Amino acid sequence: MNNKEQFEVHDPAILANARAVLDAAGTHAQMAQEVVNAVKRNEEWRGEDCINLLAPEAPTSPTVRRLLASEIGTRAAEGHIGRVNRWFAGTQYIDEVESLCVELLKKAFRCNYADHRLMGSMIGNMAVYHSLAQPGDRVMTAAQPIGGHSSNRYGGPAGTRGVEIFDIPFDPETLDVDLDKFEEEAQRIQPKLVVTGMSMTLFPLPVREMSSIIKAWGGRFVFDGAHQAGLIAGHQFQDPLKEGADILTGSAGKTFSGPQSGMIMWNDPELTQPITNAIFPVLAATHQVNRVAALAVAAAEMLEYGDVYMEQIVKNSQALGKALEDRGIPVLATNRGYSQTHQVIADVGEFGGGLEVAHRLAEANVITNKNLIPGDKPEDWDRPSGLRMGTIEVTRLGLMENHMADIAEFLARVLANGESTSSVRKDVEAYRRPLQTFYYNFDNGWPQSISS
Ligand SMILES: *Cc1c(COP(=O)(O)O)cnc(C)c1O
Repeated sequence: MNNKEQFEVHDPAILANARAVLDAAGTHAQMAQEVVNAVKRNEEWRGEDCINLLAPEAPTSPTVRRLLASEIGTRAAEGHIGRVNRWFAGTQYIDEVESLCVELLKKAFRCNYADHRLMGSMIGNMAVYHSLAQPGDRVMTAAQPIGGHSSNRYGGPAGTRGVEIFDIPFDPETLDVDLDKFEEEAQRIQPKLVVTGMSMTLFPLPVREMSSIIKAWGGRFVFDGAHQAGLIAGHQFQDPLKEGADILTGSAGKTFSGPQSGMIMWNDPELTQPITNAIFPVLAATHQVNRVAALAVAAAEMLEYGDVYMEQIVKNSQALGKALEDRGIPVLATNRGYSQTHQVIADVGEFGGGLEVAHRLAEANVITNKNLIPGDKPEDWDRPSGLRMGTIEVTRLGLMENHMADIAEFLARVLANGESTSSVRKDVEAYRRPLQTFYYNFDNGWPQSISS
């Protein structure tokens, strides 16, 4: 040990508490038990007692969850599918699982090529920058205050490739791309890549127009559909690959409602070699075949249930937006019908800002997150004025538009009426406890209101 002070990026108090727990445990077996206990606490609280409105998370079906713990997840299978492509023998069933996954993803996204080996959408974006950009290349991406994501900015995969990043111009009022400005800027910059990655996403983007502008100099268009992947598969959003995007990346664990990980899809055979070379051997070796199996089943669920499930998600977010507005909580995009995705964005500046509000709501067992919204300044980064909500989980629990008023009411009681979080929490628990079945999958089928 040297005498430099220990530096942690994590909250030092929480790490100190973990050390104290381990010290008190005495035996290694008890240390392991402490981990199991913490998982159990989360399962009971977030899994059974909370209304989870986090936009980037989705509950998985019982089969998907079971597959994540399956034996196949202990097997090693690096490389591409097939006998000569792999280093290891004994992979014939793994080849079956992986090829089923690839073909199911192609069906779900109606595309020619898909890859299943990405540990996250971040890795998918890394594969994009690795394969299609060189250091010094110019790219245009969406800035965070308008909904962009770090993976396409200097702090993320894009930055590690040494590219020069320019902002896609947005209209802060409509939350849409300012096409005239985009055309002007793009002509000047001539970006090699344009990447739209929206973590705050309420409406489709002009993919057709943007991609046709940059084709003039051979620019490639990448739709980072981390959030929208399920909506795209379920025909409830634009279809970026049909509209001119060269590549679609997506998170499997957001609207797609599969195991947390990534997916990448494309149509042009010229992209196959660069993209798959970036995946293996650059970014993935063993790639969690249990997760691949779970992803394959999630894709099949999406093919069977996706259209109706995703349509209900969108209907629910529109209903939630209206119900919040009716209760005095300002919501973005009221004049555009609140949302055409799973998200609703509230401006909670008057209630103490996103950070404060999200934590107050969590005390009432309503889980949301703080979010930057247009108008927030760089110094507002940690304490932005927005609150982001998503309707994936409440929809999969079988709730319909008419139930969104119940949820908005819980939020309004905490925010607008200033009721104590402990009294609201009791009612949230009572509301959630009977709702423990996830629908829109082969285990549990349709929710009752749809099947009857
Ligand atoms: C969530 C998100 C990612 C990262 O996805 P992971 O699956 O969590 O790695 C990338 N891009 C955008 C736009 C996102 O919202």
